[in-house]
Amino acid sequence: MRIDKMLANLGYGSRKEVKMLLKSKAVKVNNEIIKDAKEQVDPNRDVVTLYGDVVEYKEFIYLMMNKPPGVISATEDTREETVIDLLQIEDAVFNPFPVGRLDKDTEGLLIITNDGKLSHRLLSPKKHVPKTYFAVINGKVTEEDIEAFQNGVVLDDGYETKPGELKILKAGETSDIELTISEGKFHQVKRMFESVGKKVLYLKRISMGPLMLDETLELGEYRELTEEEILLLQ
Ligand code: URA
Repeated sequence: MRIDKMLANLGYGSRKEVKMLLKSKAVKVNNEIIKDAKEQVDPNRDVVTLYGDVVEYKEFIYLMMNKPPGVISATEDTREETVIDLLQIEDAVFNPFPVGRLDKDTEGLLIITNDGKLSHRLLSPKKHVPKTYFAVINGKVTEEDIEAFQNGVVLDDGYETKPGELKILKAGETSDIELTISEGKFHQVKRMFESVGKKVLYLKRISMGPLMLDETLELGEYRELTEEEILLLQ
């Protein structure tokens, strides 16, 4: 890959800015000053330094965000703020995208990456990756609801859901529940509760496959996945 592309991909500036860096003799490849933007480098083999600091190359970026309400799970939008707008510029240069969608008012775990294969694996209906949500429900969630979700409920468009595992954490005028589903139909959790005559008042995703939301992340905050977490998702 060209040295200017490599450095620009890593967020060291636009191609033009990187050219300036090269011109100023700030960049060395295998200890040799390189000024030519077209210089070919192998990011996995050549040692590239910028002002003497080794530049670590990575192709993929893996982020976990605690999605706040009020932003949409898209890469760009003319009117609404997106989860990608919340990223620092140096993370955004990887052209990441959210893995799947959470509704605008839903909070919680959102994986953001530029690894299309990983995204496909996590979202493929064939893989049945379980997703767990915490929700506050208007009304008393009952044992009958647990059974109904276990057997599959019929949504407003006639679709019959696969079994969902419903746990009641608190039942009363409003109920706290956890629901694990292995599909991702549009507004699925909200529509499953509608099918039993109830309304979701608050919704937060707490896990996706083996990955749990890091509860130390404030709403809108994000961090890179650890090596272990990335391996868990493979
Ligand atoms: N189900 C919903 O209804 N909304 C979400 O954002 C995610 C799952």
